[in-house]
Amino acid sequence: MVDLFAEMERDGFEEVVVYHDRNSGLKAIVAIHTTLNGSATGGTRMWEYASFSEAVSDVMSLARAMTLKCIGAGIDFGGGKAVIAGDPEKDKSKELLKSYAEFIQSLDGKFITGEDVGITNEDVRFMRNYCDHLTGVNYDPSPFTAYGVFHGMRACLKHVYGDESVEGVHVAIQGVGKVGMELARLLIDNGAKVTVSDLSSKRLEACRSFGAECVEPEEIYSVECDIFSPCALGGVIDQRTARILRCKIVAGSANNQLKDDTAGRILAERGILYAPDFIINAGGLITVANEYIYGEIDEERLKREIEGIGERLIDVFRLAERMSEERGAVVSEHQAALEWAMERMRSKSERRYAISEKYY
Ligand code: NAD
Repeated sequence: MVDLFAEMERDGFEEVVVYHDRNSGLKAIVAIHTTLNGSATGGTRMWEYASFSEAVSDVMSLARAMTLKCIGAGIDFGGGKAVIAGDPEKDKSKELLKSYAEFIQSLDGKFITGEDVGITNEDVRFMRNYCDHLTGVNYDPSPFTAYGVFHGMRACLKHVYGDESVEGVHVAIQGVGKVGMELARLLIDNGAKVTVSDLSSKRLEACRSFGAECVEPEEIYSVECDIFSPCALGGVIDQRTARILRCKIVAGSANNQLKDDTAGRILAERGILYAPDFIINAGGLITVANEYIYGEIDEERLKREIEGIGERLIDVFRLAERMSEERGAVVSEHQAALEWAMERMRSKSERRYAISEKYY
């Protein structure tokens, strides 16, 4: 069993709320990392967790990552996240979503949420009938997340090859759900070669129809390519996979892609450029923050804002190089990004932010 107080203390969590509704069967956890910059925001994930501890660990690490993402994107929200325990294919019902929406409403705006893995834009629109604190209602964030990852990839290509064009570049995408599928389309439309993997044969079929090649889930790690793009779940780059990847760049949408610091260091030592997840995948957050603040979105302005992800990545890549030179040892892009974000947090507030440097 996870030592919740110790975890909260270590990383400066404000609140973790556990909720159960007997009628609908809803079991949900909301983790509010910080409301320092405004309401905490982060999507809601529905997933069949093996245990309560696994769900708590997941929601807390995702909430911490949201704080970093907000800070990185310069957005005045705090970090939060929610999980609903259950299989979205089997356990999701209107009754469950209504109950969840009412629970979020009871938090009175301290936590604002929207879609994530297992929760769709349609679900969010339905929940809007019962809750005011939802984002991504009129604007589906996923295509904008994909747009941000696409621009982040261009920055990575520029850094590694000196040319940001994706034409002729080979990208291996793990997971072609809401973000991965849109990303695959964008890449193919712009002349890239794309190989994908997914657990769903329907999604693979859809990708085949617009020109992507498909491989088995485990094979995706050993595809010889320019960019490996994790767009499924987190923690997929561990010490084993970091050693077998055959790419020059890792750039994808998944949250918390690195299992631990060592995996990030192995990538850096192997000369594989890593685009820190909380910077490259902020396109959806930028979109929903715009929607929440302004109501209507000016798409051209929004796209320009999202394209800024590329510049932020380049800053971090250069910082990692500088830090490596100064310290006489390889500093991973992940480590540099954490230090970059912490510095931005410190310059924003006197209050102590606690994000353990060990791993967020
Ligand atoms: P999604 O649920 O629509 O898609 C995830 C896909 O990954 C599914 O098709 C699933 O079958 C597949 N998958 C799961 N395990 C896999 C495995 N082992 N191998 C291959 N495929 C696997 O989710 P999404 O909204 O596309 O999000 C993808 C990732 O990006 C998640 O980690 C999410 O947290 C992150 N993210 C999403 C957004 C957004 O706007 N949707 C924003 C930021 C970050």
